[in-house]
Amino acid sequence: MIHSRYPALKCLLVNPWIADFAAYNFWVRPLGLYRLAEWLNARGVDLSIIDCLSPFRAPGKFRRQVVPPPMKSCLEMDRNFARYGITRQEFRERLKRTGAFDCVFITSVMSYWYPGIQWVVEEIKSTFPAVPIILGGIYATLWPEHAKSACGADLVCQGPLKTCAEKIATFLGLPRQALQPERPWYLLGGIVDTVDYWAVRTAQGCPFSCSYCASRIVSGPFATRSPGEVIREIVFLYSRGIRQIAFYDDALLVDFENRLARILKGLAQKGISLTFHTPNGLHARLVSKETAQLLARSGFKSIRLSLETTNPERQAATGGKVSSKDLEKAVKNLLEAGMPAPDIGVYLLVGLPGQELEEIEEGINYVKSLGVRPYLAEFSPIPGTSEWKRLERNGVVSMDMDPILTNNSLFFRLFSGYDMNRFKRLKKLAASLD
Ligand code: SF4
Repeated sequence: MIHSRYPALKCLLVNPWIADFAAYNFWVRPLGLYRLAEWLNARGVDLSIIDCLSPFRAPGKFRRQVVPPPMKSCLEMDRNFARYGITRQEFRERLKRTGAFDCVFITSVMSYWYPGIQWVVEEIKSTFPAVPIILGGIYATLWPEHAKSACGADLVCQGPLKTCAEKIATFLGLPRQALQPERPWYLLGGIVDTVDYWAVRTAQGCPFSCSYCASRIVSGPFATRSPGEVIREIVFLYSRGIRQIAFYDDALLVDFENRLARILKGLAQKGISLTFHTPNGLHARLVSKETAQLLARSGFKSIRLSLETTNPERQAATGGKVSSKDLEKAVKNLLEAGMPAPDIGVYLLVGLPGQELEEIEEGINYVKSLGVRPYLAEFSPIPGTSEWKRLERNGVVSMDMDPILTNNSLFFRLFSGYDMNRFKRLKKLAASLD
């Protein structure tokens, strides 16, 4: 429990289960909930947190419980639908330990994981039927009407905290202005748990605008944190025994000299040695020789670069963030800087509207020819993006559909028209070492 210094409202913050055909722990942490905790604490609110996705090792598997698929179309999949994270019994035990509260905040990530929120609401309502539920995060931002009706939220918050702070303050009768200076989440106590990794963001959003990506809609304009603030956070995590940090930025290398380079050099000066991961793809165009050398020296592992496609027309049409030449240079710079080839992976999108399997095969062979591993990422349409609007005009998607249908594995099987046997062969080709 995080106590305020004032006669307080009590709120429970919940990171819900994942509901999917597959899920893997790529160093996930509910950073949005921590930001909310800072804001609420500064307004005198007592807080408890239940994170259904913690503690689990990363990278690694979550515990999984197979559950009935939420809709018939899921039967198209040759995999089981499951709840990922702690057991329901464990949730109940944690809920008992929190004691009574006045309000629940639930965050959300992928829209098609909303059954995970429904399970949380069921659990809470069975013990505290009258407690109001506030839903925020990505799904709430992209599908507010659905979130309200399918999850029974009393209040749906769209966008980052700064855009809905007023709404939350009004709903809960909280002061607009902080009663005390905001303290970073890690000084509030009660949040750092027993995992040996953490996720950190050095900025919100992304200055690019790719046709399939909702970064701008979800996070607002690109906004950076000061290097000093990030260093303080990482130093704290280090003092608690954390040795692996995943950067969850959308644009980690943008303004490299003034941001990440300063952070890495600042940590080195303090003698802090960590392993860093970049599960979100890095901008290959920004991986210069000097950048690659600093990343290699600073302990970066599991580097992921975004290419998405080798088709130059599609590269340009989807936003022009990277070309194949940019990728070649980035891979060369990283290898020359001493980064082991198995630590470098390249994301390729699969199932973009109009994309044929030949294009995907070409991408796989191209990435492999550079001596690094391709990772296939199945396209999922996101409301508000240009790709969504195009699919909507063609009658493929609409805001009336069930978000489950936008699940990356499912959407692609239902709508890409691919020969799935051939696709499976391509997946094997991508994963093979030759
Ligand atoms: S560069 Fe990446 S994060 Fe930025 S808009 Fe494009 S896909 Fe999204």
